[in-house]
Amino acid sequence: MLEFWSRLDPDASDKFEKWMDGHQTGYYLSFRGPGEAMLHRGYCGHMKGWSRPVDLAKNRKLCSDSRSELEAWATEHHLRWKRCSDCI
Ligand SMILES: [Zn+2]
Repeated sequence: MLEFWSRLDPDASDKFEKWMDGHQTGYYLSFRGPGEAMLHRGYCGHMKGWSRPVDLAKNRKLCSDSRSELEAWATEHHLRWKRCSDCI
């Protein structure tokens, strides 16, 4: 599982974009707050086509090729999460 968050890493946005390119069928959680997130797939269009520069990792991202790994993490951390209706 990989974490991208601009608050912790100034290069997180670029790194997250590269991760999406290489993990189109992977999954990521996009946090909306400390206890709330949305689950997307790597190819989800939500993050594409924004005018640059844009910080894609302004909200914390947790990424994995395994959906069950992310779901287990979410359960363990009492995260409220929803599936993105566009990509999952
Ligand atoms: Zn999505």
